[in-house]
Amino acid sequence: MENAVNASTAGSSGQIVVAGAGYAGLHVTLRLTAKLRNNPEMELTLVDRHDYHQALTELPRVAGGTRAADAVRIPLQDVLADRVRFVQTQINGFDLPGRRLLTAGGPIGWTRLVLALGSRPNDFAIPGLAERALSLYSAGDAERVWSAVGKALDAAAAAAGPERQRRLATVVVGGGGATGVELAGELAEILPEVASAHGLAHDRPAVQLVEAGPVILAGSSPQLIDKATRTLSDLGVQVRTNATIAAATEEGFRLKDGQLVEGGVFVWAGGVKAPELVAASVLPTGHNGRVKVDQYLRVLDHPEIYVAGDLASVVDPRTGHVLPPLAQVALEEGETVARNLGAELVGRPLEAFTFHNKGFVVSVGTRRGVADIAGITTGGRLAHLLKDAIEWEYRQSVRHLRGWDPVPG
Ligand SMILES: Cc1cc2nc3c(=O)[nH]c(=O)nc-3n(C[C@H](O)[C@H](O)[C@H](O)COP(=O)(O)OP(=O)(O)OC[C@H]3O[C@@H](n4cnc5c(N)ncnc54)[C@H](O)[C@@H]3O)c2cc1C
Repeated sequence: MENAVNASTAGSSGQIVVAGAGYAGLHVTLRLTAKLRNNPEMELTLVDRHDYHQALTELPRVAGGTRAADAVRIPLQDVLADRVRFVQTQINGFDLPGRRLLTAGGPIGWTRLVLALGSRPNDFAIPGLAERALSLYSAGDAERVWSAVGKALDAAAAAAGPERQRRLATVVVGGGGATGVELAGELAEILPEVASAHGLAHDRPAVQLVEAGPVILAGSSPQLIDKATRTLSDLGVQVRTNATIAAATEEGFRLKDGQLVEGGVFVWAGGVKAPELVAASVLPTGHNGRVKVDQYLRVLDHPEIYVAGDLASVVDPRTGHVLPPLAQVALEEGETVARNLGAELVGRPLEAFTFHNKGFVVSVGTRRGVADIAGITTGGRLAHLLKDAIEWEYRQSVRHLRGWDPVPG
């Protein structure tokens, strides 16, 4: 009954607006393009502050200097069909009763809205963290990390005494999740190789990974955690667990137990939360400000708005936990949203979202990695190749999906 009502309000004409051209929003747009083939009256608009899509999963490579920032920026004009109207502007808020997106370029009206604005780093209100530590959430951020590392190595080379050199040439990464592990591994492998170009002995640079919990990669299998910890150790990364950062100061990260973790570059990769404009809205939000949705990925009490990706607070009924902010989840949610919008157009019932976990792969350094797939844990070169293959396949799918509908409906 509810679905029939919604289907009739959607109609075959109107304006579908997708806010955010990240993993979720771009996927919704690409998949909808084909579904709208028989609905010339329905406008499809994609809005983002950038005119490119960012392959965020590749940022640790940019931050480690092994990939150019421009290589992870995929121009939207290369992947969007002419059917899609793209608006590059900053979204500043929502006029929900008036069904308008409020942007720097003026309001954009919608009959159906897809919110896919991703997330932003969460500093958990740790004093000094936002000012003192770099984050890793855009190609620009990653470039800043690599540039800061270069400057730190130069400063270390100019410093007197091995101890001071070591301190200045140390990169401290806060947060032992996948991003922190990938960044720490990448830098640990690269820094000795690039040290001499900065006039520094190859054994001067160091990487420390600081994690508040008892293990890195929390939530993964014990085998995967063990393999990742051993690989990081092989690469010379000093992993500190049960180490809660209480403050970030000029000297370094001050831990809860009073210890000081010193270094020349500090990066925070300890978690994410919803964008500010969502927190400031009347949308119903849950943990970390993510928007609460129903089983069809529509905002609670706002069936005309779908949410996908990091911004959606989706509880996995099998575990009772909110799904993690991952590209894999964002793509699957994007798929369901596109299918449900397509279903509304033709008056078909909506599809409940179910997450199909394809596994977990993390690169650890430039050659090795760890993976949990179908209950089997792999490490070493194979896992790294898997990560490369996933990223390659993703890029192919973005180009290939332009106007293509593999599963009609
Ligand atoms: C360094 C790093 C490594 C990662 N590695 C992995 C990995 O290996 N595997 C994995 O599964 N996940 C990984 N993730 C997580 C993954 O990238 C996210 O889960 C995914 O990007 C979420 O997709 P999304 O579409 O919700 O948001 P995003 O991809 O972040 O897209 C949000 C979009 O909204 C736009 N936007 C936001 N606010 C505004 C505004 N106010 N106005 C206009 N535009 C706006 C942004 O420009 C962006 O294009 C990683 C994340 C990071 C940061």
